[in-house]
Order: sequence, then C-alpha cells, then structure tokens
Amino acid sequence: MAVELTHTPVCRLCGQGPLEPRLVFRAPTYSLSGDFYLVACSKCGTWQINPHPGQKLCQAYFSRPELWAEGLDPDNNPVSPVKRAEERLKEYIIYARAVNHFLPKGGLVMDIGAGTGLMLSLIPDSFSRLAIEPNQEAAEVARSRGLEVVREWAENLNFSHKPLSGLIFNQALDHLPRPDIILNRTLNRLTPGGLILITGLINPLSLPARLYGQGHRLWNPFHQIYPPLSAVQSVLAAYGLETVGVWRPYFNTPYGNTVKLIADFFKLMGALFIRPKGAVSPPWPGSTYSLLARKKVLFKPLSARSPQAAPIGSAY
Ligand SMILES: [Zn+2]
Repeated sequence: MAVELTHTPVCRLCGQGPLEPRLVFRAPTYSLSGDFYLVACSKCGTWQINPHPGQKLCQAYFSRPELWAEGLDPDNNPVSPVKRAEERLKEYIIYARAVNHFLPKGGLVMDIGAGTGLMLSLIPDSFSRLAIEPNQEAAEVARSRGLEVVREWAENLNFSHKPLSGLIFNQALDHLPRPDIILNRTLNRLTPGGLILITGLINPLSLPARLYGQGHRLWNPFHQIYPPLSAVQSVLAAYGLETVGVWRPYFNTPYGNTVKLIADFFKLMGALFIRPKGAVSPPWPGSTYSLLARKKVLFKPLSARSPQAAPIGSAY
C-alpha cells in the first residue's frame, strides 16, 4: 500500500494543541510499514499519530475484503476477525445492559463503524437501529443479524431530521482520521438524554505503554488517537455530555484471563527493572477503556434546519 500521510497541525480530539513529540514506533508489517511519530496534545493530553493516514488511505485499508479474513495478531497468532468479534460478546453484553438502561425512547440509535453489527444487535429491535459500515464483507454479516446497514464512510454521512438518541463507536472512533470532526457533527445532533458509547480507546499512560515504549502492542498507524480518559470526558463535557459509565475490559475479552494475568504480572515486573528491547507488551487491565456518556437534559441539539446540518441523502 502506498503511504500518503497527512499532517494535521492541531489535536484531532480537542482541536487545540500545541502537539509535542513523544515517541517513534515501527509499524507492524501486516498494515503499513515504516516509522510513525506519536505526538501528545499539550492541552488535553491525547497522544496521536502525526503525520497520519488520511481519509483516502483509511478508506483503502478498511474497505479491503481481506480485513475480515484470517490474519495475525501482535503475537503472530492466527486470528479470525469475525470470530474474534464474536468472542467479545460477554464484554458487549455489559455495555448493552448500561445503554439499554439509559437509552431514551423514540429516536434513532446509530452505530458508526459497526463492523459485523454484534454490538448494535444487542440493542432491542424496539429501537430504530442503523449500522454504518463501509466494508462489504462486514456489512453482509451485520445484515444477516437483521440490521439495517448503510455502507458509507463516517466522513460522508448525512443526517436526517430524525432525532439521534444513541450513538455507538464500537472499536471505531480511534480509527477515524478526524475523530474531532465526526464528534462535532454527531454530538450536536444528539437529543437531550441521548447517549454515546465509545469502546476500545487506548490509554497512552497505561503501565504496559509506559514500560514498553515503542514495543507497546497497541501502537498502530490505524489507531489514530490515544486519549486518556480525562481528555475524552472534557471534550464530551463541552458538548453537554456527562459520563455515566466507564469500563476497563480485560477478563471478558479474548485477551485476558487469570492465568495470563499472573504470567504477565511477572513480565511487567521484570520490565520495571530492564526496559525490554524488541519485545511486545502483554495485554493488561487498563490498557484500553470504554465509556458511556449522556447528554444533559438542559442541552438542546442544533436545529436540523441549521446551516451545519448536512443535506439528507437517504431516509436517514
Ligand atoms: Zn487535545
């Protein structure tokens, strides 16, 4: 894949900065090759890749049919993405319980970058549900679950006059080249009491990230931003959202169990004394997190007829 990177001078979460250098990592060969630079926003603390894959490169990468075929994980073990998604069911059920508890009735629940639709399928079909998934193979799996799927990129989405009561970015927000722009477009359309679920964000200040530096397993050119929890919360607060749930998934994921935790504990303790060279960090609780936030009732969304509202191209 030809590498055409984009330089963005401001933070791609909070829109501010300045951006300060942190580290350089070598991209794994299964996605892009070469060195990538991680910088940190001095305002919100979000780490991010810069220069980074832009819209064109991301669309080429995420529309590949083989994205949903068998590949290798950071430990070089074979992995099937569809099967791996199914293995996250326990984790997703935990999120779905919380979403379903708070979700206001009557609006649309939109899952942007829905993949195979497993997460959205856990929202009861009494709600109006829409999966946005550009990859054809993933979209077909989502449709087989009975979901309505629009094959479109987040950047090209049009929004209807229908109130948006739920927004899901399941393992998706940090894959977007401009998450700040997408958040601005979508959060302004969320109704009072409406929810946003963001899962799978990578904490750049986790213990494995600090101890392994360049060798942290989660650095990847297509993981575009690495926000600490406080950064996400402060950006969401600017749109009138308050956090109602935070999770640090480990035991309910395919990556974590008690035996691994004990073995990896000793690995991390060793890394405290000798910084590992060329080694890949182990999965660890707190390396990633998910959160659910709710728009305060006093906040009103932008009028659907305001100039910022995109023209509508479909029923949604
Ligand atoms: Zn920032």
